[in-house]
Amino acid sequence: MNKRKIYVYSNETSVSIKTADLLRKKLEQSGFEVPNDYDEEAELIVCIGGDGAFLQAVHLFNFPHIPFIGINTGHLGFFQEINPEQLDEFIFNYKNNKYSLQPMTTVKGLMRMVDGSEVNLKGLNEIVIRNEDTHSIHLNISIGGSFIERFSGDGIIVSTAAGSTAYNYSLGGSIVDPRIKMLQITPIAPMNTTAYRCFTSSILLPGDLTIGIMPETGKERFVVAVDGESNRYSCIKSIEICVSNTLVNLLRFEGYDFWNKVKTKFL
Ligand code: NAP
Repeated sequence: MNKRKIYVYSNETSVSIKTADLLRKKLEQSGFEVPNDYDEEAELIVCIGGDGAFLQAVHLFNFPHIPFIGINTGHLGFFQEINPEQLDEFIFNYKNNKYSLQPMTTVKGLMRMVDGSEVNLKGLNEIVIRNEDTHSIHLNISIGGSFIERFSGDGIIVSTAAGSTAYNYSLGGSIVDPRIKMLQITPIAPMNTTAYRCFTSSILLPGDLTIGIMPETGKERFVVAVDGESNRYSCIKSIEICVSNTLVNLLRFEGYDFWNKVKTKFL
């Protein structure tokens, strides 16, 4: 009979590498196969590091349907479920099916350029559209096909519930329970004067509405960042953003509670 496969991904810090080596040994002793390279037949991906490493793994493996479990050797570790001291407990609970899956919705975007080309975007935390330098940018924003506002300021971010505790939170956006399928538009330094009028708070939308973003001139230069990975663009004609059907699943063990996690990580 083929052995059950678990893939172990780790960032490059010495504590992560040490934890990964130890975990590989323990998993093999428990009867699992631990492939050296990413294997789509694995039933679980263990991600060792912080949230940054987790986001990297999600993108590197192209938003796999295989669930993740995070081991926190990073700074904050909001996505990460266990600590390096809990490896035996993790293996015991996993083998005995003492876990649940937390599905997290993702966000996708389609960027149409003035020259007719298209760029697809996909993120777990957020999509950021912002100025390349310190000049203000102007974006016409629609929701569900209806024009809502002409945004003026540094930019906007469109975050998922999972991303609500990340950049969104630093910008004054709301923390959202990941069980809610939604998107949140949060402004970055919005201008609200007699010259420029735009919303200064976040807007929360149900998951079935599409956000339309049209740069005013098609000549402005932007930075578009997805989960921290940024690229520079000029000549963007429009960007459509909505909830993606792709889910990212995290293993959670008994006692996990989203709001308790928020309390311990933020207060
Ligand atoms: P990074 O250094 O990898 O991450 C910045 C901080 O955000 C780290 O402490 C990270 O946790 C934490 N983080 C990431 N996702 C989170 C989530 N869903 N909930 C709570 N905290 C989260 O930065 P990066 O590579 O540039 O971008 C990765 C993510 O970081 C982005 O998607 C963005 O949301 C966030 N970010 C936040 C700010 C800000 O708050 N001003 C600025 C840039 C980026 P770990 O320490 O465990 O890695």
